[in-house]
Amino acid sequence: MLIRQGFVYALRLKAQRQILLRRWVGCRRFVFNAALKYQNAELAAGRGRPGYLALSTWLLGLKKVHPWLCEPPAQALQQTLKDLCTAWERKSKSKFGPPRFKKRGKGDTIRLPQYCRYNAEAGVIHLPKLGIVRLRHSRIAEGALKNVTLRLQGQRWVAALQTEREIQVPTPVATAAVGLDFGVNVCIMPSAGTPIELPSRISRYERRIRRLQQSVSRKQRVSANRRKAVARLGACFRRMAAARRDFLHQETTRLVATHALIAIEDLKVNAMTASAAGTIEAPGKNVRAKSSLNRAILRNGWSMARSMLQYKAAWRGVKLVAVPALFTSQTCATCGHRAAESRKTQALFQCVACGHTENADRNAAENILRRAQQQLARGSRGDEIEPGGSPAGTAGYAGTHACEGARGKQQRPRPRSAAQGGAVRLPLAGTVSELSLFGNLHP
Ligand SMILES: [Zn+2]
Repeated sequence: MLIRQGFVYALRLKAQRQILLRRWVGCRRFVFNAALKYQNAELAAGRGRPGYLALSTWLLGLKKVHPWLCEPPAQALQQTLKDLCTAWERKSKSKFGPPRFKKRGKGDTIRLPQYCRYNAEAGVIHLPKLGIVRLRHSRIAEGALKNVTLRLQGQRWVAALQTEREIQVPTPVATAAVGLDFGVNVCIMPSAGTPIELPSRISRYERRIRRLQQSVSRKQRVSANRRKAVARLGACFRRMAAARRDFLHQETTRLVATHALIAIEDLKVNAMTASAAGTIEAPGKNVRAKSSLNRAILRNGWSMARSMLQYKAAWRGVKLVAVPALFTSQTCATCGHRAAESRKTQALFQCVACGHTENADRNAAENILRRAQQQLARGSRGDEIEPGGSPAGTAGYAGTHACEGARGKQQRPRPRSAAQGGAVRLPLAGTVSELSLFGNLHP
């Protein structure tokens, strides 16, 4: 399987070169905004939106007017035109709005697609027009270097190296199957084993953030002290995000290393965490309660955990199945009876039919696993997650991410035999050897 992976390193840069890089990202932003303005003007004049080729020619003219645009590598500016075209394509697929003008300090990045070299022994990268740059070389980036993205994070610069390599997808040694319930109180509840809780340092960071937010609000509007306080707050947010990402990486790696089948709920986190505020004419109800629920959901990083599971499972040959989330918390895992009254409290599940009593999240996790096993037994392919489903656009940014190129022959629809139809009730703690009778887990 051909995979792409991102490796992120902090850079060791002298102040002078940091200033140079700031100018480069400034040039990139300038070109992006000018190109968008040009496109909007053409659209308003009814001449149609200029595509990438037209924009490249236009860029040459722009460089004659502003010679300082020749300072950053030329490909970096062409890349921003490509990014702009991609943004319009996304809009035409109606999922996103039109591209917006970029603002200083937001997404200050520059991508270099060519002439970058990586020296793993020395822990340095060689970049066009910048020369040798030392990395905080925490690990070796495997594979062939495809591109380098430089990004300003608070006060420091980081480089994301995107590489490509061929890997052999192993047959997992583990045979166990697990269902995962992403909870509000417990971060991840497995159908068996100990609950996975967020580390306590996350709440320490949250307390610190509240204090720093107060400190920012007490500073005079436009002042050096306010700027410093905002920088402190931003650094704390970044540290918390890093702690959460690190924790989720460790847990998801452990989960895929010890299981052959992982079942999760097919949750639409964006829709679930939409604001309840409503509009001025029609204000929403329970806005405050909803917003704290949203915060509790987002705090646990479900989406991040899911996208990590997605590519890690694909790389290790582990089957990841997403099942419909409907009524998993109201159904009894023992007898299958569904009643809203069975859910006694947030934490307790007690079946009104058979009296089965269990932790509510654990009960849901068991239901999720059972549904996945039934789905596999029926040979239904609908909700199975394709390997490498994480968005390609983020591949160079956030740690390790899978990307395109991971689509194998596994997507082929399988013929259904008579044995696969109907209500096959599988044992709850089913292992793969039992499962493979029905759902042939590893084609
Ligand atoms: Zn029951």
